Amino acid sequence: MPEKPRVRFAPSPTGELHVGNARTALFNWLFARHYGGTFILRIEDTDRERTSKKFEDAIIDDLTWLSIDWDEGPEKDGAFGPYHQFERLDIYRDYLHELIAKERVYPCYCTDEELEEERANLIAMRRMPRYMGKCRNLSAIRRKEFETKGRKPAYRFNVGKEIIEFKDLIRGNMSFDSESIGDFIIVRSNGIPAYNFAVVIDDYLMKVSHVIRGEDHLSNTALQMLLYQALEFTPPLFAHHSLILGKDRSKLSKRHGSVTVREFREKGFLPEAFLNYMSLLGSSFSGGKEVCPMEEIMQDFTLERAGKSGAIFDEHKLQWLNGIYIRNYDPGKLMELLKPFMIEAGYDYESLDKTWLSHIVEALRDNMTSLSDVGNYIDMFFDDRYELSHDARSLLAEDEAMEVLHLVRDILERSKGNFKDVYDGVIAAVRRETGLKGRKLFMPIRAAVTGKLTGPELDRIFAILGRESILKRVDTAIQNAEPRSGT
Ligand code: GLU
Repeated sequence: MPEKPRVRFAPSPTGELHVGNARTALFNWLFARHYGGTFILRIEDTDRERTSKKFEDAIIDDLTWLSIDWDEGPEKDGAFGPYHQFERLDIYRDYLHELIAKERVYPCYCTDEELEEERANLIAMRRMPRYMGKCRNLSAIRRKEFETKGRKPAYRFNVGKEIIEFKDLIRGNMSFDSESIGDFIIVRSNGIPAYNFAVVIDDYLMKVSHVIRGEDHLSNTALQMLLYQALEFTPPLFAHHSLILGKDRSKLSKRHGSVTVREFREKGFLPEAFLNYMSLLGSSFSGGKEVCPMEEIMQDFTLERAGKSGAIFDEHKLQWLNGIYIRNYDPGKLMELLKPFMIEAGYDYESLDKTWLSHIVEALRDNMTSLSDVGNYIDMFFDDRYELSHDARSLLAEDEAMEVLHLVRDILERSKGNFKDVYDGVIAAVRRETGLKGRKLFMPIRAAVTGKLTGPELDRIFAILGRESILKRVDTAIQNAEPRSGT
């Protein structure tokens, strides 16, 4: 382990930040922070057709939301920039010329149609589709002919025959037979470098000590090793972590549900819960603990334990964890976080009495597994939003429900001027008079007072709503409840 490792996260801004990529970013960041190293953010924006500034901004915003901060990169600078690949084209060009001079690459004039035909033929012959080297040994005259016809060459790396070996810090010794690879393009005919070429040059020039990325890049690493050799660069160490899988054990994708950090943000997950879940997903550090603060995760983090086997993403588990974080969150901060969700639910947040609201949030937080849940429950605290749900009506149609409500009503009527502790008094009196307990006792009251069958503790609801409001609701429930069956 070098004294101070340098690692990087290198997203291509061609879409929103996928949870799998967020996990890669997180592992790199944890590794850097654990060893007091440097975390670099590099934007791999060479795919001009699919890249967009909008996605770059969204990725940066999501990383910031997760508190994954970088030491070098966009908005930060550093000694090894620029940190956008598209601003480094001159650098790649110089290394291309070096490889041309060393005769490790050659110009390829094949058109897309020709390449497609070759591919189709190989598949038809049940052979592995790869470039068979048509332009590898073109004579100078042939090359000239193509150039005169106006064909712009791509540049291919001449792979040769060898066994490519490297040690992966998570997976151990890896070996690839170059025969299966085929000469690959390092610079396209439009002069833009291919991913494998740009990444090797950047990782080398940015003095990246450890490349930590998903195992879907393993075969790229084999190609990259060839380029390290050809360029006479010392390669970094590699660690390929497992990927996130859906419940059916296939790679997590849209058809499994939400897959981008943005989607989870919008659903009301807390960054702390999300980080906690992503850090421990598929890994075995922290002694099997499931709720673990970031400082502890950072301290315990080791690459070997982080994601050797495929990690199954379970949104319900994430929700459960989110609920725990919500329950323990600083109430003032929680109110702030809930603001957009209340606005979304149609409330004029600014005009609400904040002390009263803080009591509501305090009462609600035990029931929430995501911030957006506020929208499901908050209505019950507003008389103009209160409504008897279908389930509440059915429950109020059960035997004895009306008896309970009438008693509640009478007790509340009598409790004029003394509402403090009234909840305990109401429950005790109804229990005494009816002999009912448990569900039979509490559910009619909950249904009538909140209009729902689930929600915060009733005593808290009583304290927040106050006597007038509860009386009005009990009256409404008595008037509106479905008639008992058979009557
Ligand atoms: N831009 C590449 C990607 O998003 C980076 C892969 C790597 O870490 O080398 O997949």
